[in-house]
Amino acid sequence: MERLLEVEDLHVSFKTYGGEVQAVRGVNFHVNKGEVLAIVGESGSGKSVTAKTIMGLLPKKVSRISSGVVTFEEDDLLTYSKKEMQKVKGSKISLISQDPMTSLNPTMKIGHQIDESLKLHTDLSKMERKSRVLELLTLVGIPNVEERYSQYPHELSGGMRQRVLIAVALACEPQLIIADEPTTALDVTIQAQILDLLKDLQQRLDTSILIITHDLGVVAEVAQRVAVMYAGVVVESGSVEEIFANPNHPYTWGLLGSIPKQRQDGARERLIPIEGTPPDLFSPPKGCPFAARCEYAMDICVEKMPDSTYLTTDHASKCWLNDSRAKKPKEVAMAGR
Ligand code: SF4
Ligand code: MG
Repeated sequence: MERLLEVEDLHVSFKTYGGEVQAVRGVNFHVNKGEVLAIVGESGSGKSVTAKTIMGLLPKKVSRISSGVVTFEEDDLLTYSKKEMQKVKGSKISLISQDPMTSLNPTMKIGHQIDESLKLHTDLSKMERKSRVLELLTLVGIPNVEERYSQYPHELSGGMRQRVLIAVALACEPQLIIADEPTTALDVTIQAQILDLLKDLQQRLDTSILIITHDLGVVAEVAQRVAVMYAGVVVESGSVEEIFANPNHPYTWGLLGSIPKQRQDGARERLIPIEGTPPDLFSPPKGCPFAARCEYAMDICVEKMPDSTYLTTDHASKCWLNDSRAKKPKEVAMAGR
């Protein structure tokens, strides 16, 4: 498998009045060509910060990248100037954000918003661009494209607006789309439609997608691989089949226990929530970040951050239960699943 994007040992912190928040603490993952990788975690786990770092969207004044490499096409994106990053954004890597209402310009016609990106990154003539925009609107499943072309965002439903954002993201046929909670603002039926659309486009266009979500249901629906983030750390990663069938990390067990189930009335119900709250990232724990909430925690968990254990070539987990030096017999923990 060819790697398209690789993030290594990324550390990002934010200056605040209360001190420095260690939001991302040594994150490693990669996205292969043509695959969907999901980063899953609770809010505050550092997943959006990771996405923003890749896109060069961190607020310069208050953020600090103290280490890390983000390799894309053999270059480290973290060394790019603003201008160099501008060229990459939209043409090679696009972002689909959470809220289609604020991401679209309310005073600009839909068609023109897609056209902007083509104008910026291609040499197409005005006529060619128009037909490309109509093609893109069709591709993302928008009906009556000629009419929609001249409409404003407020004339479209939330689901349609999200489709427009996807069209904007696809305009220049990027190799990678980063989608940060792309369906969170939508109701359940529309969510499913948008996920189907992303999946379908990814298969047809062979684009890679990095999807950020707090919802394991979304992961199961669209991703081939998954990285589970907790308190700024990727605690487990692997293929979706592996992680769902053979989860290793107690935090992943907790997440799987809290997959929202669809109820008869269409509402979503959480199963067993994970008790407790994530650690304070002003002064992160030196050991396993999950120790305070983990029912299998041992002395060493509080003392020292566990290394990654590779359970298969692609399935890694950071938990002392995998280490023979840890005192507690693994069977005890396994029985708890
Ligand atoms: Fe629990 Fe220890 Fe594993 Fe952390 S390292 S998840 S505290 S058993
Ligand atoms: Mg977020």
